Amino acid sequence: MTAELLNGRDLSDQLKAEMKQEVDVLKQENIHPHLTVILVGDDPASKSYVKGKEKACAVTGISSDLIELPGSVSEQELLNVIDEQNNAEHVHGILVQLPLPDHIDEQKVIHAISPLKDVDGFHPINIGKLVNGEDTFLPCTPFGIQTMLESKNIEIEGKHAVIIGRSNIVGKPMGLLLLQKNATVTYCHSRTENLREIALEADILVVAMGRKHAIDGSYVKEGAVVIDVGINRQENGKLTGDVEFESAKEKASYITPVPRGVGPMTITMLLKNTIKAAKGLAKK
Ligand code: NAD
Repeated sequence: MTAELLNGRDLSDQLKAEMKQEVDVLKQENIHPHLTVILVGDDPASKSYVKGKEKACAVTGISSDLIELPGSVSEQELLNVIDEQNNAEHVHGILVQLPLPDHIDEQKVIHAISPLKDVDGFHPINIGKLVNGEDTFLPCTPFGIQTMLESKNIEIEGKHAVIIGRSNIVGKPMGLLLLQKNATVTYCHSRTENLREIALEADILVVAMGRKHAIDGSYVKEGAVVIDVGINRQENGKLTGDVEFESAKEKASYITPVPRGVGPMTITMLLKNTIKAAKGLAKK
């Protein structure tokens, strides 16, 4: 079997075109969706992610501000900036680009963002709602993956989903979303024994490890859907995933490439959440 590609770039272009129309209608109702992105320090990867987010906002007609703070900024100064944005009426979404420098407590910062403007879906209130199955801002990467699966009518109900990685931003919420869609979910992580045996049981295999090509075709069941979340920069400067694509694609039924897979969908879901926030705040 050679897998069909799940092309995140094409799907996100289509979704952005739909969102542009939605934003145009909102503007006629005097709702102007606005995202504030806060970048601390000058990490090149973070800078490039932020640039991608600003560009995607512009394409859909969402206005955005970038607040750049030096890496030496104090935790309190950052919290003050967040507070200003929480109170700014024209701001609907606030995103603090992670990771933050070591002297800043990431959890404290996430807690400080108003849950109503938490378009990353990381605030404990929003995570709690996700656990309960209540309407909330879904974390962008898992939300994007769910949208990709749905776009191809890939069955989730009753299927065994194996998630490799248990981070708060990808692995954990991904499992919760798939559980809500009635998958049977197994989480694997760095202490998991028999990783290959467990992965080989997966109908849907989501890999979010941050380890270049750690998962090859020998971990993939014939016909499985393989989602590669990993972003690893190679010596030649090019990006590659956690999955060794060539061998995995021979086993999988569907597979996401890196780049042009999960990455563009993550940004697109951020826009979706910003529009949702704008509509929600307009009703208040
Ligand atoms: P993380 O470092 O927070 O978590 C990695 C997880 O992988 C951990 O839970 C760890 O237990 C697990 N792991 C590590 N080594 C393992 C091993 N040998 N066996 C089994 N499990 C192992 O990373 P993260 O923030 O979840 O990101 C994971 C990857 O996804 C990174 O490459 C990151 O750049 C990428 N990412 C991509 C997007 C996107 O939009 N495409 C979004 C977020 C993260």
